Amino acid sequence: MNIMYKSTRGGGAAVTASQAILKGLADDGGLFVPQQIPQLTVEMEKLRDMSYPETAYEVMRLFLTDFTEEELKSCIAKAYDEKFDTSEIAPCREVDGASYLELFHGATIAFKDMALSILPHLLTVSAKKNHVEHEIVILTATSGDTGKAALAGFADVPGTRIIVFYPKDGVSPIQERQMVTQKGANTFVVGIRGNFDDAQNGVKKMFGDKELAAQMDAAGYQFSSANSINIGRLVPQVVYYVYAYAKLLQKGELKAGQEMNVVVPTGNFGNILAAYYAKNMGLPIGKLICASNDNKVLYDFFATGTYDRNRPFILTSSPSMDILISSNLERLIYRIAGEDAEKCRALMEALTGTGKYEITQEMRAQLADFAGGFATEKEVADEIRRVYEKAGYVLDTHTAVASCVYRKYREDTKDERKTIIASTASPFKFTRSVMNAIDPKYDAMTDFALVDELSRIAGVKVPRAIEEIRTAPVLHDTVVEKENMQDIVKKILGL
Ligand SMILES: *Cc1c(COP(=O)(O)O)cnc(C)c1O
Repeated sequence: MNIMYKSTRGGGAAVTASQAILKGLADDGGLFVPQQIPQLTVEMEKLRDMSYPETAYEVMRLFLTDFTEEELKSCIAKAYDEKFDTSEIAPCREVDGASYLELFHGATIAFKDMALSILPHLLTVSAKKNHVEHEIVILTATSGDTGKAALAGFADVPGTRIIVFYPKDGVSPIQERQMVTQKGANTFVVGIRGNFDDAQNGVKKMFGDKELAAQMDAAGYQFSSANSINIGRLVPQVVYYVYAYAKLLQKGELKAGQEMNVVVPTGNFGNILAAYYAKNMGLPIGKLICASNDNKVLYDFFATGTYDRNRPFILTSSPSMDILISSNLERLIYRIAGEDAEKCRALMEALTGTGKYEITQEMRAQLADFAGGFATEKEVADEIRRVYEKAGYVLDTHTAVASCVYRKYREDTKDERKTIIASTASPFKFTRSVMNAIDPKYDAMTDFALVDELSRIAGVKVPRAIEEIRTAPVLHDTVVEKENMQDIVKKILGL
């Protein structure tokens, strides 16, 4: 079956997977969605024993139908290799009655690596398939983790250039250091005075700017996006839910057909949307539990049916979830609107105009598979300390949000189904917050002393990604006002 992609807002013709990957965002500002969600065809009996790359092929080939077997297998082989520090790629750890699906074993120790290790390869194959002659300029806004993962993925990939914007005061010290030390002649990192939403809005504006597009075209460039709105980010994320289920079967933790719940610490709604797609493909997933931090716009949405971004933006210890506009939610809205692009467009225009929208009762009824929860800063710190003291396992701040939400969910609902918690970052990425949660005495130590102490108390080797930045020189120090994002892009490209 050939799967084509169309915009959630209805504009333009359907495109192939490779065209959707190249474009990132549809011309009308909508997100590309598959015209139908394919069904998992390979039997669980077979999946049980498959490696991560084999599973990736079985899942991704169903979505990326214009890629040849050879093309897709080659992308997968380049992505899921020794860059990951375990051949399992996404191992599950049983701790204190839950399974933590560790998605942080890649090059930058956050779950973004799961998709961003493969996206550059999907993109360069897509460019070749579509006879693109222009240099591809990846424009990305990051709340901390996407930026580094995208930089690492695209560094020195021929025919590409990458420009990353991050909120200067909105990322962790380790995250910032990871980005500003990035090597590669085609990489550019820019801090902005503003928050993540400002960065994301600035990027979206540039994508929609026809005049800029014409200037780019004349100079031999074209934009593409590595943000989680790109379908080439979403599809690789479906893989690890299928893989996790198959491995739980293999270990006898689940019986064939038995449902598992999934808890996802959520920001831009990409990771949990991938789980939703996996469920729609026929993977036996029960509840999709959406965990938020103090920026609980999604929790409120699931509780009331109203999405309202008009509220203060709160900086938390889980910065990758400090988001008030969850872009990928648009794909869920589209689906629960019965794939009615007009309806979806009207809601998204309301969001742009007034900062809020309300869905109908009929749409709400289709959200029964979702449960929303949130954890406050204090609850997050308590959860990190509790799990450490009980099991010696150290959670990062984002995973702790999910872990805490899961505990509250289980108490409230008595739902005892097998549950996996998406563990989205290594604690080494958020060392200070994590160590302070375990014991406030650690606050006096320097960042790298804390890294060594964390390694000692957790009994875990310092990841390569952290060792690398200890002494690396700062290569990027540009900071601009949020209004000047376009100017700096033009400067970088010589327009
Ligand atoms: C990006 C990120 C998230 C949020 O994922 P979304 O797909 O944006 O919902 C959660 N935790 C970490 C560590 C992240 O990097």
